[in-house]
Amino acid sequence: MLPALIYLSTYIRKQLLSLSSRCVGDRRMFRGTRCIKNLGRDSRAAALTRPAVVVSGLRSRAAAPSPSRSYFPQLVRRSPPVTDGASTLLPTVAAAPRMLALAKEMDPVKRLTSGFELFKKEVYEKNTNLFTQLAKTQKPKFLVFACADSRVCPSVVFNFQPGEAFTVRNIANIVPPYDQTRYSGVGAAIEYAVLRLEVQNIAVIGHSRCGGIEKLMSLKDCTKASGFIEDWLKVCLPAWEKVKAEHPTLPPEDQRTHCEKEAVNLSLENLKSYPFVKERQEKKTLKLIGAHYNFVIGSFDIWEI
Ligand SMILES: [Zn+2]
Repeated sequence: MLPALIYLSTYIRKQLLSLSSRCVGDRRMFRGTRCIKNLGRDSRAAALTRPAVVVSGLRSRAAAPSPSRSYFPQLVRRSPPVTDGASTLLPTVAAAPRMLALAKEMDPVKRLTSGFELFKKEVYEKNTNLFTQLAKTQKPKFLVFACADSRVCPSVVFNFQPGEAFTVRNIANIVPPYDQTRYSGVGAAIEYAVLRLEVQNIAVIGHSRCGGIEKLMSLKDCTKASGFIEDWLKVCLPAWEKVKAEHPTLPPEDQRTHCEKEAVNLSLENLKSYPFVKERQEKKTLKLIGAHYNFVIGSFDIWEI
């Protein structure tokens, strides 16, 4: 395993360096959330200063990918699939902040086009069996609720592969209580995932520096109602009330972290208000999982109820 990581690390460094002399910087590699979770304090502190490159999903020695000629080839996904017995993983590579800045300067149509070209070359055309299967049906194992925040895409953070996770993203990764008149969009997604796709797990994943939770914590001070956001966030007011009662003296930053996690717990409880979810959870055919991804220190907490 270690030689494979060293080999791939060296290769990716060379590729990134060759892309642009402006992209040179200190880089650090991680192997997905499992390793991030296991980082000690010292390592986490070091990661804060060197989180430029993220690599996940490696299981065996991979053949070196051929250089891409796309406009911006190494931005999102880079490596070819790694086959390990019955499973095939598609390693994910997130680019350095400098390269993200370059991507933002690109014409938006060109950015989307080049991103698709890279995906087609490095993922789609190298996994034709997978996409042939997915053309027939999907059988995801997870229903995932994640925040719409651009920094916490679950497919990137958890290396989800096509067909693996049915995903709902909204402001603050909230699951509202069962209500066919107010929250039909979320309810439809849960119903489809549970009753039609028969997912085995529902994961609600909160995250650090969540703007939605921050807004929730200041709702009383809010004088400008947007019409949508405040009403949506009020679903999680009980979580904020709990944090204020239990941690009244904590600094706001720490209160927010607690609130991000309590909002996840509230969403998990709300999930049980959906009869078909409650029934399957009681039969133990459906797991409800809470999680919190902290991209500031590179940590991941996960729990079941
Ligand atoms: Zn958020």
